[in-house]
Amino acid sequence: MGTPLETPDRQATEVVDRLEDEYPDSTISLRYSDRLELLIAVILSAQCTDERVNAETEHLFEKYDGPEEYAAVDEEELAEDLNSITYYNSKAGYIKSSCETILEEHDGEVPDTMDELTELSGVGRKTANVVLQHGHDVVEGIVVDTHVQRLSRRLGLTEEERPEAIEQELMEIVPEGYWQQFTHLCIDHGRAVCTARNPDCSDCVLADICPSEKGDSDIDLASGEPW
Ligand code: SF4
Repeated sequence: MGTPLETPDRQATEVVDRLEDEYPDSTISLRYSDRLELLIAVILSAQCTDERVNAETEHLFEKYDGPEEYAAVDEEELAEDLNSITYYNSKAGYIKSSCETILEEHDGEVPDTMDELTELSGVGRKTANVVLQHGHDVVEGIVVDTHVQRLSRRLGLTEEERPEAIEQELMEIVPEGYWQQFTHLCIDHGRAVCTARNPDCSDCVLADICPSEKGDSDIDLASGEPW
């Protein structure tokens, strides 16, 4: 078991420093060329890998251009275009409805506030944070996906379980200038080393400060269950 630094904010800063050295080019892995494509890619990425989304959007973004075309298409046809994506029927509905709202209420532009974004169909705080950060250069919070959720709990940064509550705690301890990068670093480390089922603690740069480290700790703090 590693020993966390004495305060949560020092622990968070140390985690960021070490992961930045480890993943200097860490960034979003979804592909898009404008804000609408970003919004659509993020809606599609719920419960689906970025790799799968990128493979599907390659064709999708060639076929459709702008909110008018998504709003005009028959929902069943759009769903068929997305059929390798999890929950593609629901997501086709979200995309079509969001584009209708964007046309009716936002002059065809993807909105730039948390309130307006979360009023779009299928857009929660996580999706809105990604669109604000990467589409508008506005950082209002921390994107908490499954990797951020798991790593933050394993590393003793939070004991909360719900993403919204985890985000609030992280915003108090992660330096504001790193709110955006914190997510990408957790995602990279979560994919490469600290995986859900079998984290490689013996090859982890955070092992000496991680209270879940498998060598000594019996418990995975992410789940609260024994390793
Ligand atoms: S890989 Fe192991 S030591 Fe590293 S952060 Fe994950 S649980 Fe902790």
